[in-house]
Amino acid sequence: MNIIANSLQVIQANILKAKQAANREDAVKLLAVSKAQGAEKLRKAYLAGQIAFGENYLQEALNKQALLEDCNIEWHFIGPIQSNKTQPISQHFNWVHSVDRLKIAQRLSNTRPSTLPPLNICIQINSSHESSKSGINEEALLALATEIAELPRIHLRGLMAIPAPTEDIDQQHQQFKTVKNAFTHLQQKGFDIDTLSIGMSNDYMAAIAEGATIVRIGSALFGERNNT
Ligand SMILES: *Cc1c(COP(=O)(O)O)cnc(C)c1O
Repeated sequence: MNIIANSLQVIQANILKAKQAANREDAVKLLAVSKAQGAEKLRKAYLAGQIAFGENYLQEALNKQALLEDCNIEWHFIGPIQSNKTQPISQHFNWVHSVDRLKIAQRLSNTRPSTLPPLNICIQINSSHESSKSGINEEALLALATEIAELPRIHLRGLMAIPAPTEDIDQQHQQFKTVKNAFTHLQQKGFDIDTLSIGMSNDYMAAIAEGATIVRIGSALFGERNNT
């Protein structure tokens, strides 16, 4: 077995462990975050059973999509979105996790091809109140979600967050709880949402304990990125 297939097994086993510890029977999807990893690594993961891949940079993703055309991959866009890139994003991805402005959501809806199902969207919220981070503040979330839910070619699925990285397990739990609370609040307001995209290589066990339904894992699966 190759290293990637082996890491995939380890991560899937950890996900199962975390779900069992939290008494959860619902699904937790593993999103393989493949930014700065070559297409041959994605293919290895795909051949080992991985379906969903997350990319941060449009051009890099399009290049890999062309090389992996023969694979039936579910593509997720998880990086910052420039408004002049909304059309290719809405055409080439199944999901977008990083929407934090109405204008971006409107453009994604307007350009989503009619031959494809509505684009799955998560609203990115800024759970740690760091001004440098992208994501909308919780106070503005309800208004944004209300407007996005109306868009015809968008399917609002839930929330995404990237809390401040910390090795402190209690703090990891606290940060994810904040996101989960915002998620539950929207559900209580009547939003039909099912996706909580939280948890990365260093904190996915805590994220699953707090209700993650998608964990976005890069380096634990593919190894360190060749950062350019
Ligand atoms: C890079 C990235 C990840 C994966 O990070 P790892 O720590 O390598 O698991 C997850 N989510 C987003 C938005 C990212 O940019």
